[in-house]
Amino acid sequence: DLNSFESINPFTGEKYARFELLKSSELEEVIAKAAEASRKWRKTSLKERLKHIENLAQLLENESEHYGQIITLEMGKPLKEAVAEVKKCALACRYYIEHSTAHLKGRKVSLEPGRQAEIHYEPTGVVLGIMPWNFPFWQVIRFAIPTLVAGNTVLVKHAPNTPRSALMLQQLFIRAGFPQGVYNNIFIHTSQVENLIAKREITGVSLTGSTRAGRAVAALAGRYLKPSVLELGGSNTLLALPDANITKVADQAVNARFMNAGQSCISAKRILVPAEKYDAYTRELTLRIKKLKTGNPLLADTQIGPLARLDLAELAERQVEESLRAGARLVTGGSRSGTLFAPTLLTDVKPGMAAFDEELFAPVAVLISYRNEKEAVNLANNTSYGLGTAIFTNDIERARKLIPKFQDGAVYINEWIHSDPRLPFGGVKDSGYGRELSKEGLLSFVNIKTVVVN
Ligand code: NDP
Repeated sequence: DLNSFESINPFTGEKYARFELLKSSELEEVIAKAAEASRKWRKTSLKERLKHIENLAQLLENESEHYGQIITLEMGKPLKEAVAEVKKCALACRYYIEHSTAHLKGRKVSLEPGRQAEIHYEPTGVVLGIMPWNFPFWQVIRFAIPTLVAGNTVLVKHAPNTPRSALMLQQLFIRAGFPQGVYNNIFIHTSQVENLIAKREITGVSLTGSTRAGRAVAALAGRYLKPSVLELGGSNTLLALPDANITKVADQAVNARFMNAGQSCISAKRILVPAEKYDAYTRELTLRIKKLKTGNPLLADTQIGPLARLDLAELAERQVEESLRAGARLVTGGSRSGTLFAPTLLTDVKPGMAAFDEELFAPVAVLISYRNEKEAVNLANNTSYGLGTAIFTNDIERARKLIPKFQDGAVYINEWIHSDPRLPFGGVKDSGYGRELSKEGLLSFVNIKTVVVN
């Protein structure tokens, strides 16, 4: 249906809410209101803006169970993970409450005697966020909080399958006391995005989603000369060096791969282990994967819920089948019942197979063997993506030497990769460009104004 978004419980298939898309005239009104709000919001003090962020943080903390339920019913992640997602949103708010004053302070540069320069960070206007369904609260908050703190207002076009989360976020901002027009949820079809980016009022766009969507939006941003931040897919490597502790790596690999049923850009999509330890890793991973409890995401002991949509489950099934036809070996799992995908382990995976080359957004662990360090680095970089690599070893010096060799936005040593409000987050290559979170995220949509005073 091109005129509405539907909220469908991916576990039961039940449709429980339907939302009409905005008509062009209604969208025009929202843009006008956001622009009007932007003229006032940019003049408020940072202290005033942070007061609203504080209210929002409290609501998110106090009502994480309630919003967690909404996320779970709409996109199927286990309730525990959904509640943790909402709490993490509050953490991002708290980070900016504490650090924005310092980050937005600008700086002075002494040029010559009697001649001074200043760097000011000013808001730009109304920024468009295009967001995905996999972390329906976190992805939006990660974009919106720093953008609002910097003095911009935002329009948020959420994914069509998480409209209830989208509306709840809008309500939360209103309840937190943000003035009307500062945070605007817009239910629109992607065909309306070009007109939006073309508008003078829109001063930037941030997209989290697939590389395909990123390319389309980057092309529009280029045509209309709007700055863009793209946080796209990934095919992160988890690299176990020969000295790594196998049980520790196996524990981390399973957490890193199966969280959110594998539907995460930073999930451990390719697990690289030394050839001489391949059988041991296969055994340890199989043991753990077989124990994962799949089912109703509302139940406390469920570890793997359904995939968020039937088409996503079908896509993953096709990717697994193609990989098997190309010579990969199925050790466990591989079957699908509707949106429920059995936790799967594929071994003997090589470049040229879908499980190596494509982003696999499903609970499928992919085990790859390497013979030496050089081959490991080559395999890790043998992907169009570049979000992150994690290295496991007791030899930190050896791992440090490898850091510059990875074409990635992040390298973690002895820990799986996760986003943290204190640290910049983003990728290179087909994983996109620009950074979210930390100081970098706050400066993504500001006008860096150079001032010289004589
Ligand atoms: P999409 O990337 O298509 O959707 C993400 C957001 O981008 C949605 O709001 C979507 O809206 C929007 N979008 C898509 N195309 C355009 C366009 N041409 N112009 C403007 N906005 C657009 O993800 P899917 O849900 O289709 O998932 C497909 C695959 O993408 C997954 O299997 C996974 O590999 C990857 N993905 C990666 C994510 C990440 O965290 N990096 C998040 C989600 C998906 P609409 O649907 O209305 O087009």
